[in-house]
This record gives sequence, structure tokens and C-alpha cells, in this order.
Amino acid sequence: MTLSILEKISLQPYNSLALPAEAEYFCAVNNGADLLTTLEFASARNIAVTPLGGGSNIVLAGNIAGLVLLVDLKGVSHRLVKDTVEVTFAAGENWHKQVQHCLQQGWYGLENLSLIPGNMGAAAIQNIGAYGVELADLFVSLTAIDKLSGEQVVFDKAACEFGYRDSLFKNAGRDRYIITDICLSLSLEPQLNIQYPALQVAFDHHLASGGSITPELVSAMVCQIRSEKLPDPSVIPNAGSFFKNPIIAQTQAAELSLQHPQMPCYQQANGECKVPAGWLIEQCGFKGAVRGPVGVHKRQALVLVNFGAGSGAQLLALAEEVRAAVLERFSIELEIEPRVYG
Ligand SMILES: Cc1cc2nc3c(=O)[nH]c(=O)nc-3n(C[C@H](O)[C@H](O)[C@H](O)COP(=O)(O)OP(=O)(O)OC[C@H]3O[C@@H](n4cnc5c(N)ncnc54)[C@H](O)[C@@H]3O)c2cc1C
Repeated sequence: MTLSILEKISLQPYNSLALPAEAEYFCAVNNGADLLTTLEFASARNIAVTPLGGGSNIVLAGNIAGLVLLVDLKGVSHRLVKDTVEVTFAAGENWHKQVQHCLQQGWYGLENLSLIPGNMGAAAIQNIGAYGVELADLFVSLTAIDKLSGEQVVFDKAACEFGYRDSLFKNAGRDRYIITDICLSLSLEPQLNIQYPALQVAFDHHLASGGSITPELVSAMVCQIRSEKLPDPSVIPNAGSFFKNPIIAQTQAAELSLQHPQMPCYQQANGECKVPAGWLIEQCGFKGAVRGPVGVHKRQALVLVNFGAGSGAQLLALAEEVRAAVLERFSIELEIEPRVYG
């Protein structure tokens, strides 16, 4: 089939916040040759190329100039390496579908990351994490196309410079690469990780009544907790956590704890403290706040929502109101987690 590069395409169906915006050019690619053709198209016109996955971690504040490239590459392969399995997922595979696929195969390690929206490629952009596990824990390597040279490049874990919701691809490598696949190392034996407080609480009762815990049960429990806690973007458009949990110096944490003894604070390996952004926002009175067509979710203060007809500008104005209030009250600067475009 011939490759079609479309003009002036609405991106509203392609972002989980359902924000209205247009792509100057838009193309979905499902193979490497088409990917290179689209890069040549963009290069000949000297326009930017913006890769897109599931659209669950972007805020569209306006139209996107240049070419929006929906990375729809599919396929999964694996090889056994001693007592582990290395699984390579094409970038366009859906994350949660693959978590379930791996569980069915008896490949373990992804359970805690169940139900995170989006695709495999973007998972590496922000080193997705949840319930005590992050992508970096399982990561082997990824393959990407360098937009500058058109060459294929392989990045091992060290080269990706993963951090908390962070990687090379948000910093020095920002906007330079199109990830085509990622490779993860999974275990052939169940490796349960239920240290995360919400999981511990959830399983306490189960264990006390003599139940046993399996990876499938961990996945099901994570899905249940997430469904209770987070709004489904197909019902109330959102991008999950709108702000990163700030990490502050130990001295500031100690001072704040004196003024706010209830403030949750999680000490990091380097002595710094991670404070839940949702708690800070809630303390500033924003939980359930409504600003016209946008608002802060009523059960989860970290999630900003679009009730249906909101714009990126309205959402960002609310985010700014929240950021300023938290800064004023706690002297903590919140950082927006999704990538803002337009
Ligand atoms: C309800 C909800 C819950 C969420 N929960 C979590 C959570 O628990 N933990 C967590 O970490 N995140 C969470 N997120 C955020 C989001 O799901 C993840 O960041 C996910 O990895 C984004 O994937 P995506 O395919 O939708 O990326 P997109 O939104 O399509 O893209 C995100 C960024 O990655 C770039 N990108 C996408 N694909 C590629 C590619 N192939 N090559 C190069 N760049 C690319 C885009 O240009 C963009 O800058 C949540 C989001 C929602 C809506």
C-alpha cells in the first residue's frame, strides 16, 4: 500500500486529554522503509518530525508544525538468556497489552506496570514507573533512528541515562531520535515485588486469610487500584499525573515537616526527599477544582482533566495556578510531567 502523508489532521483523537489541535502533516508508519520515506519527506521540506505513540503523555497547547509521525510499528520477539528471557517489542505495541502477553507466556517482571496507557516506544522516553517498579529495572536496550543522519542507533541502559521519569531522550537526545523497538529482560520465575505501600495494604488481608500471591494476582491488584484511583481517559480525558513528584533537599524537607507534620516524605538513596505532588496540590485546596471546561480530578489531585471542550491554553492556565499556589505555600516548584507542544 502506498504511504499517505496527510495535511491538516485533527490530533484530538490522538491525545488522551482530547485537546483540539492540528498537525500540519500527519502520517502513520508501520514499517521501517516507510519511516525512512517520511523522514526524507520532512528533510526535503526542512520541517520538524514529532513522533507520536498513544498520546497519553502530551499536552497540545496549539497546532503542531511539521510532520506528526504516528509510530505504528508492530511485532514482538524473544530469546532465552540463561534463566531470563529478553523480549524485544516494536515501538507501536500497546504497553498494557504486552504486559498481559508476557504474563501469559510466563515472563515476569512487568506486573506492577500494568494498565499504564501508551506504547512501548514512549515508555523509554520518561522511564515509566508505578508501584515500586520502573522501566529501567528491566531495561536492556533500545533501537532508534537518528533523525539527523537517518542511521539506526542502539542504546544500552547506561546510554539512556534513566532517572525518575527522565532519560537522555528528554535531555541531550530530546527530539533527535525515533525509537523503533525496546528490549526488556524478564524473569522465567515469578519475582514478586509488593513492597509498595498500597500493594502491601491490599495484600495484607489476602495473606492473613491464607491466600497466596502470584504475578497474575499482582497485575490484577494493580489494575484494580489504578481503576479506583485514576480516571479512565476514555471517560474523562486526562494525561495521568500532571506534575512530577518533587524531590527536595533534606534540609528543606526537615523545615517543611516542622510546619506541616502530616507531609508525606520519602527519603531517596542520596538523602533527598520525594514529596507527593498530589498531597501538595490537595493542601492548596485544588482537589475537585473546576475552571470552566477543565479541572483537577475530584479523587486524585495530581490529575488535571478536560471535561470535554477544554483547550490546551485553559489546561495550562490551571496548571500555572496550581504551580503558583504550591510554590507560595511550600516553596516547592512543581514540574509538568507530560510534554507540552504548540
Ligand atoms: C490515566 C493515565 C495514567 C498514567 N499512569 C502512568 C504511570 O503510572 N506511570 C508513568 O510513568 N506514566 C503514566 N502515564 C503517562 C503515560 O502513560 C506514559 O508516559 C506513556 O509511556 C506514554 O506513552 P504514549 O505512547 O502515550 O506516549 P505519547 O504521549 O504518544 O508521547 C510521549 C512523548 O514521547 C515521544 N514519543 C512517543 N513515541 C516515540 C517514539 N517511538 N520515539 C521517540 N519519541 C517518542 C513523543 O514525541 C512525546 O514527546 C499515565 C497516563 C495516563 C493517561
